[in-house]
Amino acid sequence: MFESLKSQPADKILALMQMYRDDPREQKIDLGVGVYKNAEGVTPVMRAVKAAEKRIWEDQQTKAYTGLAGDPAYADAMIGLILGEAVPRDRIAAVATPGGTGACRQAFELIRMANPDARVFVSDPTWPNHTSILNYLGIETVAYRYFDDETRGVDFGGMIEDLKQARAGDVVLLHGCCHNPTGANLNMVEWQAVVDLINERGLIAMIDIAYQGFGDGLDADAAATRLVAGSVKECLIAASCSKNFGVYRERTGLLMAVSADAAQTDLNQKTLAFLNRQNYSFPPDHGARVVTTILTDDALRADWAAELEEVRKSMLGLRQQLADELQRLTGSDRFGFIAQHRGMFSRLGTTPELVEKMRTEHGIYMVGDSRMNIAGLNARTVPILAQAIVDVGV
Ligand code: PMP
Repeated sequence: MFESLKSQPADKILALMQMYRDDPREQKIDLGVGVYKNAEGVTPVMRAVKAAEKRIWEDQQTKAYTGLAGDPAYADAMIGLILGEAVPRDRIAAVATPGGTGACRQAFELIRMANPDARVFVSDPTWPNHTSILNYLGIETVAYRYFDDETRGVDFGGMIEDLKQARAGDVVLLHGCCHNPTGANLNMVEWQAVVDLINERGLIAMIDIAYQGFGDGLDADAAATRLVAGSVKECLIAASCSKNFGVYRERTGLLMAVSADAAQTDLNQKTLAFLNRQNYSFPPDHGARVVTTILTDDALRADWAAELEEVRKSMLGLRQQLADELQRLTGSDRFGFIAQHRGMFSRLGTTPELVEKMRTEHGIYMVGDSRMNIAGLNARTVPILAQAIVDVGV
């Protein structure tokens, strides 16, 4: 049986991580994998997470199964965090999932089940796992223009033109904030135009929100998701707690299906639970319980939000420092976009050859499409990166 297996494409980012580990140079800088790191290069366990884990360890009486949808208190807490009051609770079906990846996977399966003809429009570029899972599930994808190679902002005209090719029932996959891999985001006027197009053409919005709190703040980063969810008939929202709670390995995500009216919600809820059952039965609980403990306790929540704010501000500071340093070295503003981008990533917008040169000549590791993890920097390494960018001739 196994002889007939074909080797699958390796994950490029994970391969890059290995190359970094194998590189003996002391000066090397890792801007590859999408994990937050502090100035010491450590991905810390957040204070509130530690405190919540301690409380759970002390109080938890059983590890018996939860429900197929996970603990309903988790869904309630997360819905509050992401949507606030944007949508009545009785229009939202929600299940816990293994990470944001699990939420995306379950959303795609739901789309295929509800409408096998639906195509999914994805930004060019998008998080590679979107297209990889969609292809694996046999769902047709259509790329829409997103990144403007000149301005390194959003090519909004191109995006709208391409989305006009979508047919009623097609799905438009949007990043709620902090676009991965580019760092370039729509403003709220542009979001409203996308909402109008979705409504005019009978498209279905799907939002992937994996970095709430990493861009402009917890509420600001949810504003677009709230606008969409509050303005369209139906939508899907895949959320991840990996980054903003720093619980990457606990696999903590949530999938929401917002329906037109409360009458539909029960069927949606049962369908999402069914899909969980088919794929893994009960979703992981530990990370979800940690998140629920934090979000439902005023003191823990405040401490978590404060630490997240420190993380966000440190990345903004690094962006500004890098943009300033490049301005100083080049005498031009052409790298100003780095300070405008939001989230953990910025796409430098250069060729794979120069990305390779950065690695071989300077020991700087970024993904081949020139995505840099800003959190991989610190105040000492920013000038080294800036100099390398200038030296290789980006
Ligand atoms: N969506 C996007 C856009 C992401 O960048 C990520 C994390 N790399 C995810 C979803 C899912 O992350 P996880 O499964 O680790 O929660």
